[in-house]
Amino acid sequence: MDVIEIPDDREHSRLGASSAKRVMACPYSLRNCEHGEPFSPPSTYAAEGTVGHHLGEHILKAWEANGFQKHPLCQSFFSPGQAFKVGDIVYELGSEMIEAVNAYVTVIRDIAELEAGPDASHRTEVQLYMKELEGAWTYIDHGIVSADKKTVWVQDLKLGFQEVECEDNDQLLYACACSLVLPVEVFHVAIIQPLAGSGPVAIAHTYTRAEVEAWQEQYLNAVHQALNTTMPLEPCAGDHCQYCPVKASCAGKLRVYQAMTEVVTGKPTLPSVDTLDDKKIAFIVEHAAEVKKWIDQVEALARDRIENGSGVRGLEVKPGKKLARQWNPGAEQALKAQFGDAIYDRKLKTVSAVEKEVGSAALESSFSRFIRQGFSKSKLVRAVEGSDPLDLL
Ligand code: SF4
Repeated sequence: MDVIEIPDDREHSRLGASSAKRVMACPYSLRNCEHGEPFSPPSTYAAEGTVGHHLGEHILKAWEANGFQKHPLCQSFFSPGQAFKVGDIVYELGSEMIEAVNAYVTVIRDIAELEAGPDASHRTEVQLYMKELEGAWTYIDHGIVSADKKTVWVQDLKLGFQEVECEDNDQLLYACACSLVLPVEVFHVAIIQPLAGSGPVAIAHTYTRAEVEAWQEQYLNAVHQALNTTMPLEPCAGDHCQYCPVKASCAGKLRVYQAMTEVVTGKPTLPSVDTLDDKKIAFIVEHAAEVKKWIDQVEALARDRIENGSGVRGLEVKPGKKLARQWNPGAEQALKAQFGDAIYDRKLKTVSAVEKEVGSAALESSFSRFIRQGFSKSKLVRAVEGSDPLDLL
C-alpha cells in the first residue's frame, strides 16, 4: 500500500480564529507577536488530527460529488493499515479512526437531511474571511447554508480526548462572524468529538445574529486596541497563554507564574522542567495526584466561602450553562401515543428535533414532565473585569 502524503499548504493568519480567545483576553499578545500561533513540527496527536480531517474532507466531497445520494463510509476509500505521511510523521490508519470519521460524516448527514434540507448548499474545508479586518481568515471543517441564506450550520471535528464546549466558543463565533456578510439570522454550531470521553458524539449550540455581532464587536475592539500603538497595554495572563507565541519572554505570564509559585512553595520560582533529572521527574509524577487534590481543596474552600456568604476577594462564581434537554423515563411511550412515528429517526429523536416536528406549544403543554435539563458545573472566575490578579495577592 502506498503512503499517502498530506501536505500542510494552508496559509495561517495571525488574526485567525485559533488566536481569537487569546487576543480578546490579552490584546498585548497580538501587538507583540508578528506571527500566529508558534510553529512547531506536528506531534503524533496533531498528525492524527490532520489525517482524520483529511479523511472527513475526502468522504464529504465524494458525497457532494454523487449529488448527496449515496452516503459513503470511510472504509469505502481507506482500509485499516493505510499509511499517511504528515511532515516527518507516518501515521497508520486504525479502525478507531475509521469509526470516528464515520461518526463525523453521519452527524453532518443527519443535519443536512433532517434540518437543512435538499436546497441548502454545502462547503467542506473552506476558507472564510472577516471582511472588516484585513488579513483575518479562518478555515471551517464543514458548513451548510440554507437556500434563503438565513440559517447556517457550522460543524467542527475535534479528535482529542478532552471534551470541548460549544457555547462561548471563540473559534466557532469567529467562523459565524465571517458569515455575517450573508443575511443569516440563526447560526447552529456543532462540535463533533467522537473520541472524547463518554459524552455525546456531538454537542451543539445556537447563536443569534445579535450574539454574533456583539462578539465580533468585542473582537474587533480588542484587535484595534492592539494595533493602536499609541494606547498603552499590559499583558493579561490566564489559560489563554498556553499557545501564545510570546509566552517564553512574556513578563505578564512570568509574573503570575512566579507569584503562584511563591504563594504555594515560598520560593520565587520552580525549576524549568527540562532541568529536572529522572529522579525528580519520577517523584513529581508519582505525587502529582496529591498536588492536584490540594488545588481542588483550595477551589472547594473558595466555593464554600462564596456560598456561605463570607466570599473570597477577587473571585466570583459564574453559573453553569444550560445543558441539552434530555428525555425522562416514560417519554417515548407517551410521545408515541400522541405523535406516532414522527418522533423517530431510527431511534427516538432529541428533544429539540421532536419540538421542531410537533411544535413547542404541543410539547410544553403535555410533555414537560418528560423533559429534564441540567446545568454544567459553575466556574470560579476573577470578579473584577480587567483587574490585575496580582493586585489581589
Ligand atoms: S503569555 Fe503574556 S502576552 Fe501572551 S497571552 Fe499571556 S499574558 Fe498575554
